[in-house]
Amino acid sequence: MQKYDVAIVGAGPGGLMAAWKLAEKGVSVICFDKKQEIGVPVRCAEGLGGAAFERLGIEPDPAWATWEIKGAALYSPSGKKIEVTSEETMGVVLERRIFEKWLARKAANAGAKIFVKNHVRGVERKDKGVELTVSQHGTENKFFANIVIAADGVDSIIARKMGINTTGKLIDVDSGFQYEMAGIDFEGSDRIHLYFGNKIAPRGYCWIFPKGEHEANVGIGIGGTIQETAREYLDKWIASKEGLKKGSIIHVNSGAIPVGGFLEDMTADNLVVVGDAAHQVNPVHGGGIALAMQAAQIAAGVIAEAVEKKEYSHDALKGYNKLWYDAKGNSLKKILKIRHMLEEMDDKDFESLVDKITSEDVMKLARGELATGVKVTAKLVTAPGLVKKMLKHLK
Ligand SMILES: Cc1cc2nc3c(=O)[nH]c(=O)nc-3n(C[C@H](O)[C@H](O)[C@H](O)COP(=O)(O)OP(=O)(O)OC[C@H]3O[C@@H](n4cnc5c(N)ncnc54)[C@H](O)[C@@H]3O)c2cc1C
Repeated sequence: MQKYDVAIVGAGPGGLMAAWKLAEKGVSVICFDKKQEIGVPVRCAEGLGGAAFERLGIEPDPAWATWEIKGAALYSPSGKKIEVTSEETMGVVLERRIFEKWLARKAANAGAKIFVKNHVRGVERKDKGVELTVSQHGTENKFFANIVIAADGVDSIIARKMGINTTGKLIDVDSGFQYEMAGIDFEGSDRIHLYFGNKIAPRGYCWIFPKGEHEANVGIGIGGTIQETAREYLDKWIASKEGLKKGSIIHVNSGAIPVGGFLEDMTADNLVVVGDAAHQVNPVHGGGIALAMQAAQIAAGVIAEAVEKKEYSHDALKGYNKLWYDAKGNSLKKILKIRHMLEEMDDKDFESLVDKITSEDVMKLARGELATGVKVTAKLVTAPGLVKKMLKHLK
């Protein structure tokens, strides 16, 4: 049986970043993915904020950072627009399949072993470590690792098998559906466009993430409890937009997005959970690529120390929780309150809010600055019902 210090289940951005950073630290690491090709299929709008590059210590590479974004445009149900442009809204729309392969090369070149078309079927604690049963091209083989990283995405089962319940409640999961489109017309290819309204996207929004002047990821995220499907809503919305309905669909993808239900403890004996599996996603915009990678870097630091000390218990690994919550998790909790506030708003509330909110307020709210929301309510004297809804979540 092959033995490693760390086995990673899932070669998405979280798993690959963990593999890269652990290998750099000299830890022996193996990373399995059930897909037959890294980065494919893409289930993502591919937006990545520029600040993430600095935070993660990676340089955008023109091979995958293919379209530059300078800001965001937010639209109310009646079409009123708020433009948000600042240092913080700079970013890129990625070619994610190329980006993930780039990450995989970094990890492999640093010494990590990566296997595709390898489905981890079982994990069982044995001899102070974990025995993994892996279906490799249809043949079952056993591997041994001292620590397992569950980076197996929103449908994670690995953590659950090892004692952490990662299953999100339906209310905390969005349903995403997206077309990559070409031959479309829209204004402002240097910004992402987000369209709000309960008729077009209940408990969520429709988006256009440009990939060129006439190409974009056009998608929708709606609450997981909504009866009609995300695709039905998206098709209706596209049909209402002259510039979009004339275009061609060159790729269809869909997936669930965890938007809440954060795990307080993402560690157990021999186990660390990262990325979507740990619900490390921004609950308002659903972005999780950068967060998964940041969590992976934090986890890699804690795990490398544990391996050095040959300590694989919950006690040796639990430091990851505090480091994560200090770095990002606590601000995500505040952003979750903003999500709950938005979810309660009807279309009339959206219109009242858009009339009074500034783009600076939007930026602050997006960062989880709840006091800004409270400040905005002072301007909403003509909408007492909305004020009540907002204060319920912001105080
Ligand atoms: C429609 C949609 C649009 C999105 N748009 C954006 C966006 O624009 N920007 C952004 O930042 N985020 C976006 N996200 C969220 C983003 O895609 C995720 O947050 C991100 O992929 C999380 O990375 P991860 O490594 O945790 O998990 P994943 O990328 O899901 O990787 C998990 C991997 O684990 C593998 N796996 C699972 N189980 C096993 C097993 N038993 N054995 C072996 N392998 C296994 C899977 O094959 C997969 O490759 C979007 C999501 C959706 C659904």
